Amino acid sequence: MNLDKLLRNNIKALNPYSSARDEFSGEAEVFLDANENPFNAPYNRYPDPQQKELKIKIAELKNIAPEKIFLGNGSDEPIDIIFRAFCEPGVDNVVTIEPTYGMYQVAADVNNVEVRKVKLNEDFGFSAQKLLDAANLYTKVIFVCSPNNPTANLLDNSEILKLITGFDGLVVVDEAYIDFSPENSLLPELDKYENLIILQTLSKAWGMAGIRLGMAFAQPEIIHIFNKIKYPYNINILTQQKALELLDHLQEKEEWVKIIVEERDKMVKKLFKLPFVQVVYPSDANFILVKMHDARGIYEYLTEQKIIVRDRSKVTLCVDCLRITIGSPKENKKLRKALKNLI
Ligand SMILES: *Cc1c(COP(=O)(O)O)cnc(C)c1O
Repeated sequence: MNLDKLLRNNIKALNPYSSARDEFSGEAEVFLDANENPFNAPYNRYPDPQQKELKIKIAELKNIAPEKIFLGNGSDEPIDIIFRAFCEPGVDNVVTIEPTYGMYQVAADVNNVEVRKVKLNEDFGFSAQKLLDAANLYTKVIFVCSPNNPTANLLDNSEILKLITGFDGLVVVDEAYIDFSPENSLLPELDKYENLIILQTLSKAWGMAGIRLGMAFAQPEIIHIFNKIKYPYNINILTQQKALELLDHLQEKEEWVKIIVEERDKMVKKLFKLPFVQVVYPSDANFILVKMHDARGIYEYLTEQKIIVRDRSKVTLCVDCLRITIGSPKENKKLRKALKNLI
């Protein structure tokens, strides 16, 4: 891979904004460099633009060097930055699977970049070769998502590795749901593949969707590019503090994941027995995709019962499917009871 060739010229030439906190970040007593208000501590101060303390904590947790970590306002930020860094609007394209997470398409549309979609197989598996065949000279990035949203299945790791080794652009593997799956993250393999970008998030297993913290892992050269493009203070102090605090609760997170996975497996077994349910697809995530007679009607019925699920019945390969997030044991029971009342 030639990173210089992948980069847009304007980004190659970009002089990033240099903030007061970038220019001086050591110990001092009097800070009169950033036009901050001296009152209302600690909220008067700009946050650390490089999130050093938080990155050190995540580095320990993930067993990876801090220079290989980018933190964003959710995973959505690194997704957008990838387009802005590498894809020339109206010229370059990206390749992805279909169906998958909607933000790749939205970020592409915002940046006026073509998305070439390769349909998954009927069993929601994918073939690396088909994705490689869909790429051309203008393809800068291939996005895959494993476990995939909304199909809930892990993609075959050996196929993902074929993609990474067979493509001379960047491969993004979105692992938002990896904590719920029996398969390991690709993170330990990161150093073997200079073109690999792994996305993870605190929004799902860690239960912190509200504080907006997404992570991208890649080689330092790629992280350096992301840092040049991002807003200087993209992670606010409240988020940095809360993440530092809650990342200490690793055991609690693992307990939640265990409960959610147990509840998921129970939900699969019980929904399967309902007469109007046609398929409960196997799940490696914290949600299940369920095919049923009159999915839209059932969606509307559940809404009347004040239970909201996601209607995916118009999505490619998901005809008549609802996507159901696994909630608390009490919430899950409520859903099953409401569905049973339909019989
Ligand atoms: C939920 C989800 C994310 C997380 O996005 P955040 O912006 O970090 O909350 C990322 N990728 C996929 C596929 C998701 O479903």
